[in-house]
Amino acid sequence: MINTDVVIVGAGPCGLFQVFELGLLGLKAEVIDSIRQPGGQCTELYPDKPIYDIPGVPVCTGLELTDNLLKQIEPFGCGMHLNEEVTVVRKNDDETFHVETDAGTEFHAKAVVIAGGVGSFQPRQLLIPRIDDFTADNLHYRVQDPKQFAGKKLAILGGGDSALDWVLELVDVAEHITLVHRRDEYRAVDASVEKMRKHVADGKVDAIECAKASAVDMQNDSIRAITIQPKDADPVEVPVDDVLVFFGLAPKLGPIAEWGLDINRKTINVDPEKFETSVPGIYAVGDINFYPGKKKLILCGFHEAALAAFAIKQRIEPDKKVRVQYTTTSPIMHERLGVKE
Ligand code: FAD
Repeated sequence: MINTDVVIVGAGPCGLFQVFELGLLGLKAEVIDSIRQPGGQCTELYPDKPIYDIPGVPVCTGLELTDNLLKQIEPFGCGMHLNEEVTVVRKNDDETFHVETDAGTEFHAKAVVIAGGVGSFQPRQLLIPRIDDFTADNLHYRVQDPKQFAGKKLAILGGGDSALDWVLELVDVAEHITLVHRRDEYRAVDASVEKMRKHVADGKVDAIECAKASAVDMQNDSIRAITIQPKDADPVEVPVDDVLVFFGLAPKLGPIAEWGLDINRKTINVDPEKFETSVPGIYAVGDINFYPGKKKLILCGFHEAALAAFAIKQRIEPDKKVRVQYTTTSPIMHERLGVKE
């Protein structure tokens, strides 16, 4: 069990800036995100695209903004739990919170901030006739422990960075890899494509291009073989021990809908003073919240994070007045930031 002041659900720009605002007020945070890297939409959807409306930053890419936010929160040493989805948020009898992830990590916190954006990014599913009729225990949409594939025959489906990254990482772990991609061009960085092609030339990887998985042969609860249908050729059946699918991610509100909050379509209603939800002690900032006049912009989320931090500090220390202090001149802020006077 991890004890902290605040659990932040979502490591998008607003979740990251929330760490900063809480840190300035002396509060510790743990951040959880269901995807493998921080940055939310900025890194998942537009890492290389320029953003022009961050105050004081004439232009930066989604990735640069994320890197700068990560640098800015370094002094506060927050816990970062990636590749874990928050499934449970429950209030305890003493008004603290119990938070759990799908990886079994548990947190005890005095407050929770939901910075879940447009929802938890979920892997796009493999759509094969009857695939919903069974649950295959060897069909994977994410890799938690690469060692589990040691000596296995793998089919890896997809043609983006994740698919190629895992081909390259597992090529020396697995017995053999068959990569299946629906095009002959890849949406991955050139260096990865080049390395993958070298492994194909060495016979360590088979790459079947312009093809898709059209059927699976099941035995008990496992896929034993997968049928690959190339665009202009006869289908081939490939025996497999495991199938890994990397078709990209799509956001879904997911478990947040089950936490008893006042939800307005796909957003959470908050008050625009504290950004508190209908459950006292649970706050929501960034794209996930709604209040009159709400705009889904990063700078609006930053403002919300600042006010939520003040409200959380007041909730945790109800008898003290929470004063505004300037980072320019306040010795206590300098101490928290680790800068010399
Ligand atoms: P997000 O960035 O969506 O991050 C939320 C994170 O929460 C995600 O990583 C998600 O996986 C995680 N999460 C959700 N639920 C869970 C859960 N249960 N457990 C664990 N993790 C969870 N805005 C601007 O201001 N200027 C721009 O120029 C601009 N350009 C854009 C261009 C594009 C193409 C797009 C798509 C958006 C653009 N935006 C821009 C909007 C901006 O990206 C969003 O406003 C911003 O990302 C919202 O930040 P956030 O932290 O609220 O949420």
